[in-house]
Amino acid sequence: MDTSNRRGALSRHSEFDSRLVARWIRACADEVSSHRDHLTQLDAAIGDADHGVNMDRGFSAAVSALEAIEGLPPGQILEQTGATLIVRVGGAAGPLYGSAFRRAGEHLGDVARFGPEELLAALREGLAAMQSLGAAVEGDKTIIDAWLPAVAALERGLRAGAAPNVAVRNAREAAEAGASRTTAMQARKGRASYLGPRSVGHQDPGATSTVLLFRALEKAVTAS
Ligand code: ADP
Ligand code: MG
Repeated sequence: MDTSNRRGALSRHSEFDSRLVARWIRACADEVSSHRDHLTQLDAAIGDADHGVNMDRGFSAAVSALEAIEGLPPGQILEQTGATLIVRVGGAAGPLYGSAFRRAGEHLGDVARFGPEELLAALREGLAAMQSLGAAVEGDKTIIDAWLPAVAALERGLRAGAAPNVAVRNAREAAEAGASRTTAMQARKGRASYLGPRSVGHQDPGATSTVLLFRALEKAVTAS
């Protein structure tokens, strides 16, 4: 494929809009709701058994809030969703995911449409927001262990000229691999860190819910 075709392929897919963002949020809620008990079981092993319930409550509130804001620009939908998640998810994950969605939305601003490069930049901003709030780095057994490699894989895919749906699939696969790697880690952040070495041998609930958010993104992008 020569570069002009490649640019053509990209611009054909540069048409993400409010509907894509709304589809993503609804798909997040569906994924979280179907995996609620699994997330809660993971959190029962190394936390306080509320991650599935927290995420399900927060994302169903985000979907309820969508109806009133669906006509807004995509960035504003993400910002308001972030605000809902902060309040309604609660726990450690609510402020983290909420800040990620809010910062991603702020990054998109008021544009009506955006492309895969802006999506990548928004997700990277979301990562930065979570790291500045929670101070976790890769290897601490948190959300970051799935979100960071997912963003890196999305970037690699786009740089290699992959179509957005392929690059987003790569991101979801990298999130899955990252979440799997948390099993062998000892938690250094959050409630699981209180367990010290006893946190080893269990997959991190937050890294696992990040996989669901990227799976939802893959579904939303593939449907566009
Ligand atoms: P809580 O621990 O308050 O009950 P949740 O159960 O909703 O909150 O979320 C737990 C998840 O939050 C953990 O599995 C971990 O992935 C994530 N987490 C905790 N602290 C941090 C942090 N500082 N940075 C990133 N993620 C974190
Ligand atoms: Mg918990």
